[in-house]
Amino acid sequence: MTTPQVPALHGLAELRQRYRLERERRVRPEGVGQYRDADAEFGYYAADPYKVETGERDPLHDTVDVAVIGGGFGGILAGAHVRRQGVERVRIVEKGGDFGGTWYWNRYPGVHCDIESHVYLPMLDETGYVPEWKYAPGDEIRRHAVRIARKSGLYADALFSTAVTALTWDEAGETWIVATDRGDTFRATYVINATGTLTDPKLPGIPGIEDFKGHTFHTSRWDYSYTGGTPEGGMTGLADKRVGIVGTGATGVQVIPMLAEDAAHLYVFQRTPSTVDVRANRRTTAQDVGADREGWARRRRANYLRIVSGEHADEDLVADRWTASAGLLEKLLPSFRRQGDRRAFEAAYEAADAAKMDELRARVEQTVTDPETAQKLKPWYRYACKRPTFSDLYYSAFNRDNVTLVDTADTHGIERITEHGVTVGATTYGLDCLIFATGFNVGTSGIHSGKLPVHGRGGVRLLDRWAQRGPRTLHGFTSNGFPNLIQMGSLQNASSVNFTHILDEQALHAAALVAAAEAEGALIEPSPETEDAWTAVLAEGAPDHERFHAECTPGYYNREGRGRPNGPTAYPHGAVAFHELLERWRDESMGDVLQARTGRRL
Ligand code: NDP
Repeated sequence: MTTPQVPALHGLAELRQRYRLERERRVRPEGVGQYRDADAEFGYYAADPYKVETGERDPLHDTVDVAVIGGGFGGILAGAHVRRQGVERVRIVEKGGDFGGTWYWNRYPGVHCDIESHVYLPMLDETGYVPEWKYAPGDEIRRHAVRIARKSGLYADALFSTAVTALTWDEAGETWIVATDRGDTFRATYVINATGTLTDPKLPGIPGIEDFKGHTFHTSRWDYSYTGGTPEGGMTGLADKRVGIVGTGATGVQVIPMLAEDAAHLYVFQRTPSTVDVRANRRTTAQDVGADREGWARRRRANYLRIVSGEHADEDLVADRWTASAGLLEKLLPSFRRQGDRRAFEAAYEAADAAKMDELRARVEQTVTDPETAQKLKPWYRYACKRPTFSDLYYSAFNRDNVTLVDTADTHGIERITEHGVTVGATTYGLDCLIFATGFNVGTSGIHSGKLPVHGRGGVRLLDRWAQRGPRTLHGFTSNGFPNLIQMGSLQNASSVNFTHILDEQALHAAALVAAAEAEGALIEPSPETEDAWTAVLAEGAPDHERFHAECTPGYYNREGRGRPNGPTAYPHGAVAFHELLERWRDESMGDVLQARTGRRL
């Protein structure tokens, strides 16, 4: 294998120094404490602008087989798989006014999924649907979520505009009591938690944020009644408005070109520029993706997961910039795995990374005409430090006369928001509308954040149980003391950029657990020893991301520069190996988590 060429422009030492300096410009002493929830004080953010009024309903006090918390893809897939196992009464409880989760809330102009639609949209084989675009618009994705929910009969028992507020294990009845903010207290034999990883919008705690007198909203609560238009654009309401947007992550990169088209003037307040790679979106036909062959979508998705997980695949069916950059790692890994030479691998990886980042910085220069603006848009960090983004419209938006890029890195972000605008350095930018594309609290489902209290056997609270030794689970799904509670998400489980694939495998597993417990008349509950064994598996193989992330520019990947990976520990050997492990476990060991119900024998 040949080591990738380091571009002549930068020696690696010089590049490392530049990365360090750029990081220092952005780190804030408060770390994650710099953010605040978009909570009730910001009345507008808590509202649901997409809700269709359905009126009041009476509280429910009945019994279902399975309660699923969350009606995004995770919850829908859980419901669909459980119903395929023949379980009838499945009730999904969802905060939004309909199914869709992320895709219900995020309807901002330009919203797309930057993972190829043919691998991102689940159950394509089962529904017969073939996406129309390589990268689908949000509305197509949302409609697909609704399609699966309809086909799986999930509407009949669903509760919308309803949030679960507590889960309590009833020892005598051996069922869960599910309480909601609409006064429901119903019972469920099983509870599946599918509250997602990116649900709670977050705002920067910028001084004066409450004082702004113009119009303001978060991108996940887009106010079309103010802007006019639709996710496709046409925001006539902005024709005479000075609009500011804070945030240039994956959301900002999609929405900024649309605002640039329609606003009288757009100010983009940037702290860290994203990497913005080629998008090349296009219409696709069933023929393009081989959709006439049985199981085409499952095969394509499996091929994608192998490649983005750094595993070898004989072919690259998706062939886009995600698979190309992951493919780089895959090319590097095999020879060094054989040699076992970690240092040589790190050196080759750093060189390949530098070459990729130089290519991305060159892209800025080739597109942006004003040299000063181009300099500000160039990303200076290692590729894996921040989530990559993709767009063929973003950089050219900065060539327009009505768009101003305001770099806030020297002041570690915006310094102050006033009644009439935003202050950076010595300048206050007057604004009519201020939009926050500032993302979400990552990886904190209701249960893990404590907002949704769970009391298991003996009234013990889940978070208290975990307080001393950290989370204890088997495979991330089940925990001792909390029978028949199945958690989805990446805690002690697997993760991937194609998260719907992960959710589909989780849903399949959850449904298999429910089916096994039903067949045996048993409870699902791992022993403490089983949890210990799983914790040991996670700890032994844990990769040393610490050092890599310590040197990264701040962001949610490294707890805003605190130098350790954010979020829960995942299975260390990747999603492909995890799925194989689960399949073997279902075949050979599932009986281990089945416990006798009181007064019954297994
Ligand atoms: P992110 O958390 O990724 O980005 C937040 C942005 O806000 C960053 O640019 C951040 O800057 C900026 N910011 C925060 N505080 C300040 C401040 N005080 N001053 C200036 N700027 C500030 O949120 P997104 O909504 O973009 O993405 C959320 C998640 O959704 C991500 O995981 C993303 O990958 C995912 N997503 C996926 C899409 C897809 O197509 N699959 C599409 C859109 C989103 P800084 O970087 O300096 O912290």
